[in-house]
Amino acid sequence: MGEEAVRPVVGARISVRGLDKAFGTLKAVDDVSIDIAPGEFLALLGPSGSGKSTVLMMLAGFEVPTAGQILIDGQDCTRLLPQKRNIGMVFQHYSLFPHLSVFDNVAFPLKMRGIGRVERRRQAAAALEVVRLQGYGDRMPAQLSGGQRQRVALARAIVYKPRLLLMDEPLSALDKNLREEMQLEIKRLHSDLGITVVFVTHDQGEALTMADRIAILRGGRIQQISPARELYERPANLFAAGFIGEMN
Ligand code: ADP
Ligand code: MG
Repeated sequence: MGEEAVRPVVGARISVRGLDKAFGTLKAVDDVSIDIAPGEFLALLGPSGSGKSTVLMMLAGFEVPTAGQILIDGQDCTRLLPQKRNIGMVFQHYSLFPHLSVFDNVAFPLKMRGIGRVERRRQAAAALEVVRLQGYGDRMPAQLSGGQRQRVALARAIVYKPRLLLMDEPLSALDKNLREEMQLEIKRLHSDLGITVVFVTHDQGEALTMADRIAILRGGRIQQISPARELYERPANLFAAGFIGEMN
């Protein structure tokens, strides 16, 4: 089975229209519209507090938009519960269950969906193979390195073959060498699975190395959406030019 077992048909097409999210008087996300092609790797890039996580939480269904619309493969998902969306998510602080083995962590979303034990074990093993952790199923999270834990979190996010993978600064807790290794790992996984990825980061270099296109956010508003190269050559405004120029 191996990687075959977790390969989805094709990545999801995402269409976000006029998305707003207010917390009291604060507009955390302000009129965000993005179209994401099936299989695209999009980075949401911006400084702290620019609304990146809030956009992701609305895509995942953990936050309900104040206004606007989210279409996934043409279906209006704006108010759909998270478990009804075919989405995998990796959080900044890889929230593995410390009391569960690697196998049980990875299989957890399958258990939630009522899938039987034998099938859970088979699919969890396939997902662990994709992140190159075959043979680690019986370990506990405390016995793993930071990078291995984040790979377990990735395996858990892809175990039920989502067509959209959301990642919120998944590498920011890792040291530089490990971060670069994991960037390659995530790129490999993206091209192997053909999945659509929305990757949140505040790191310009990370966005430029990983993404097909980059959306720059500031104060909840999109400043520019373009391929990495174009951000350099034709920044849409002073903020985009300055923010990309801050690299290194
Ligand atoms: P980023 O991920 O880019 O750092 P966030 O999306 O987390 O930004 O936050 C955007 C803004 O919304 C920030 O000013 C933040 O303080 C505020 N915010 C985020 N979540 C909440 C919440 N649940 N309640 C109130 N304010 C929030
Ligand atoms: Mg955030």
